[in-house]
This record gives sequence, structure tokens and C-alpha cells, in this order.
Amino acid sequence: MALMLRIGLTGGIGSGKTTLARLLGERQVPVLDLDGLGRALHSDSACMAELVDAFGKEIVDATGAIDRRALAALCFADGEKTEMLNRIMHPRIWAQTEAWCAEQDAVYVLIEASVLIESGGASRMDAVVVVLADAAIRRQRVLASRNMDAQQFEAIVRRQCSDAERRQVADFIVENNADLHALNCQAEALHRELLALATS
Ligand code: ATP
Repeated sequence: MALMLRIGLTGGIGSGKTTLARLLGERQVPVLDLDGLGRALHSDSACMAELVDAFGKEIVDATGAIDRRALAALCFADGEKTEMLNRIMHPRIWAQTEAWCAEQDAVYVLIEASVLIESGGASRMDAVVVVLADAAIRRQRVLASRNMDAQQFEAIVRRQCSDAERRQVADFIVENNADLHALNCQAEALHRELLALATS
């Protein structure tokens, strides 16, 4: 069997990454949610201890769990703190990713991450799929589906890289400005291309 390809999937907030990942998952593609993996690591005791050591007790909430908002606020606009966080999280995230990949039986797997490009993770992938959607559409989808206001949405957009940067890294681009039926057709076409790439 050919080597299993690691396909990164990324895009800006509300672009439709998770929706596309679900559509590919329906086609039996194994999908790893790196954002979820990072969140789960916050409750791993060794990881938690290192985070508290590095950032102090102020990142622990009343229930004893890591307060992700407090941690994000500390790192926001402080490059050194962001690097410190990355030094703690990235080795764990990539070790778990490799362990997960080793368990999969597929010609390609999908690794979904909102900041795959910003974190440098794109270079670990065999190919990168970028989902793009116009900013106004993303905003409307996010505000309609999530407990988030326009200001929070814009703050996240500012922290993420631009679509121009995403286009530069992309091996495959999915434009998600139309309806879910259109996205499903694109998912099917993409799946065929990725299968062909993985078995070539
Ligand atoms: P985030 O970065 O915040 O995790 P995301 O890129 O994973 O966002 P999704 O969660 O997939 O984006 O999509 C955002 C919202 O838009 C969801 O409610 C989803 O159902 C909806 N959506 C995605 N694509 C479409 C589409 N083509 N037509 C209609 N709604 C869509």
C-alpha cells in the first residue's frame, strides 16, 4: 500500500472547515480535529502543570480547569507568551497526531486545524486544503450559528492569517460561498483528487 498522506485542512473562522471535514468523514476519510485535541490537552495533568508553571494560577478557573479565555488574553498581543504556549502545546499536539495517524488504515487522513498555517503546522502536511469564503458570508454564518458577537468575530479574524497568505500555501482550494449542496459536490471532487494523489 502507498504511504498514507497527511492532508491539512484549514481556513478562516466560519469558512466551513468543520463542515467540509464532516462531508469527507462521510466518505470514510479519518479526520483529526487539532483544535479539539489542543483543548483536550488542557485537562491532561502534566500539560496543565506546565501551563500553570509558565503562566501562573490566573489561568485556572474556579473549577480548577484551565481558563482558555484567560490564557488567550494573556497570549494575545504578546509574542513571547504565545511562543511559550506553543513550546508547551506543539510537541504534545504533534506527538498525539503521529500516534493517531499510526492507528489509521486509509490512503489519506485529514488533519483539520484553524491555525495550521500560523502555527507552522502546514509544513508537516503532505498537502494542504484551504477553504475560503467571503468575509461577509463567514461573519453571517458565524453570528447565526454561534454565541459570538461581531466584535469577537473581527478580533479572531485579525489574529488569523489572511486569505492571500492561505492561497499561497494551498495545494487545493475549496470556495465555500454557495449552499451546502454545492459544498458537498466540491467535497466529492476533492475526495477523488485526494484519492488519486494518494494512490499515484
Ligand atoms: P471555525 O473556524 O469557527 O471552527 P469553520 O471554518 O469550521 O469555523 P463551520 O463550522 O464548518 O466553519 O461553518 C460555520 C457555519 O456555517 C456552520 O453553522 C455551518 O453549518 C455553516 N456553513 C458552512 N458552509 C455552509 C454553506 N455552504 N452553506 C450554508 N451554511 C454553511
